[in-house]
Amino acid sequence: MSTTVTLIYGDGIGKEVVGATRKIIDATGVDINWEVCEAGAEVFKRGIASGVPEETLDSIKRTRLVLKGPLETPVGFGEKSANVTLRKLFETYANIRPVREFPGIDTPYKGRNIDIMIVRENVEDLYAGIEHMQTPGVAQTLKLITRKGCEKICTFAFEVALAEGRKTVHCATKANIMKFSEGMMKRAFEDVAKKYPSIEAKHIIVDNCAHQMVRTPEAFDVIVTTNMNGDILSDLGSGLVGGLGFAPGANLGTGIAMFEAVHGSAPLFAGKNVINPIAVLLSGVMMLRHIGEFEAAQTIEQAVLATLEDGVYTEDVRKDAGAVSTTDFTDAIIERFGRTSDAWPKRDYKKIKLPELSNERAYVKTKIRKTVGLDVFLETTQDVDKLGADLEGIVADMPLHLKMIGSRGVKVFPSVGGL
Ligand code: NAP
Repeated sequence: MSTTVTLIYGDGIGKEVVGATRKIIDATGVDINWEVCEAGAEVFKRGIASGVPEETLDSIKRTRLVLKGPLETPVGFGEKSANVTLRKLFETYANIRPVREFPGIDTPYKGRNIDIMIVRENVEDLYAGIEHMQTPGVAQTLKLITRKGCEKICTFAFEVALAEGRKTVHCATKANIMKFSEGMMKRAFEDVAKKYPSIEAKHIIVDNCAHQMVRTPEAFDVIVTTNMNGDILSDLGSGLVGGLGFAPGANLGTGIAMFEAVHGSAPLFAGKNVINPIAVLLSGVMMLRHIGEFEAAQTIEQAVLATLEDGVYTEDVRKDAGAVSTTDFTDAIIERFGRTSDAWPKRDYKKIKLPELSNERAYVKTKIRKTVGLDVFLETTQDVDKLGADLEGIVADMPLHLKMIGSRGVKVFPSVGGL
């Protein structure tokens, strides 16, 4: 039976890398009906503020399956990102990015067998984009983390581990400093881990995680983390294995899956037929596994490895005249269908079981609710002791008292020990 996929070529190098991917997937004989749709720069130019036209949204609502190229975000105030529109609209709460060593690609980590899956929460955290100015010189961004969001992404990470036969899940947070928000992720992780006794669960502070990823990346298997931590760690991961040309990814939600490379539209290389299609191609391989086409996925993955082992490289890897064009590289992969490689351990892949979502509202019942205080933001040049005394005077007849005045989290009134 044919599977319909919404195909978005996107901007810049998109046409070349997505075109190469389509050609290679078609060459496996998998029955895919590509529904080609638009999004990105040209759509913005037509005055559609989201960068995604209705026809594309309708297609995704029908197919629930997307392979997309990079979309440019116009630079300037008030413009939305078409990528963020898609992620938010379809609530793709999980971003997964495999980080694996490729044969023949020279990096300081050659031979270390890096093989990490980074699972990044994709819709919460600082990326909710809720910001305001507390005072004209002080900006505030809200870091929103929900218990339900944490449970979903942690469950998802353990399911990824099961689907890929992996042994350990690390949860990377900054719970030592942000005890409520990042702490919620840590606590949810520890609770969810109890349901997966066959997988080792470890918590790690995120800065140490970055450090350990550079020192001993081979020690990691699956890493689950909050949105911004994941954004940074996954780019670090791409850097370990040869750069953006080798970094595939997927954005998954309940009944929706969008597959795309980590890289952008690389406008300087657009139309030159030189760019590396591996990142989008391996995103396509993730899509094939998602729809249960394990054999085709394996054929492509092994052919990519064999191509690299034969020393066939695009310009980003090989800097001399021996580099091949994107189209020749595409054909070289297809020519190697049926070849196998020992570069990566063979995994018995299964479909990732997405967490079941209950229809109940995300309502956390608490035993006690009480008002513990009120924050007021003040802009003043007044001396802090004078300000404190004035405020104490103002609230003297109210059922309130002044607990403290803080400046960027540091208590400045009442002063401690004369400091
Ligand atoms: P970029 O497009 O990822 O390009 C940065 C650099 O990475 C490129 O100059 C390129 O060469 C290297 N690179 C990227 N893709 C490569 C590939 N397939 N093969 C080999 N090398 C590759 O990042 P950017 O220049 O910051 O962003 C350009 C536009 O893309 C922006 O409008 C941005 O908003 C958008 N963007 C979209 C997405 C998305 O749709 N998911 C993601 C990121 C950015 P060198 O390493 O040789 O410099």
